[in-house]
Amino acid sequence: MARYTEAKCKLCRREGMKLFLKGERCYSSSCAMERRPYGPGEHGRRRGRKPSDYKLQLREKQKVRSIYGVLERQFRLYFAEANRRKGATGENLFNLLEKRLDNVIYRLGFAPSRSSARQLIRHKHVLVEGDVCDIPSRQMRVGQTVSIRTKSQNIPQVVQSLKDNAKRDRLPFVEADDKKLEGRLLSEPQLSDLPIPIQENLIVELYSK
Ligand code: SF4
Repeated sequence: MARYTEAKCKLCRREGMKLFLKGERCYSSSCAMERRPYGPGEHGRRRGRKPSDYKLQLREKQKVRSIYGVLERQFRLYFAEANRRKGATGENLFNLLEKRLDNVIYRLGFAPSRSSARQLIRHKHVLVEGDVCDIPSRQMRVGQTVSIRTKSQNIPQVVQSLKDNAKRDRLPFVEADDKKLEGRLLSEPQLSDLPIPIQENLIVELYSK
């Protein structure tokens, strides 16, 4: 499976904002955006010209892809599905991304990052409605429960994530029981619930050309 293998902090520095891709480190003074809040590479500190509309649209799309850890081909498929559904395409797109199983595990606070959640799922530590599910992109439905298997509850990344939950916002569309390591998707995720500012209209414009 293709995946992004470069330093994740470079992605935040390229977008000029914290994308919270590395769990605990993102909340500490070791965060690269605290120490080097400018673009990566030789020309990172250069002030560029006013960005074109295309550049703004492209950067917004890349930012969202980085946040959810989705590759271009899969992101296009999400966009096509969002466009096909009734309602606003941008809102539909985020609904689909937020309902991915790896994202729900992260939002519930059972993993420190989405990449860590993906690893837990791939290694069969996660149950959906009581059955093992090893597909990180699985779409969750409202009301479905997810949990960490009993024998996997002492995995260091799960334990650390629970400790760090005080620093993270739990969003209104999920409900978690930290003792049982079980949670539920309570309602349809809304774009307005998300903690990072996103201009979904730029992504819609980019793909509608
Ligand atoms: Fe981004 Fe986290 Fe790296 Fe900071 S530590 S730059 S928030 S990935």
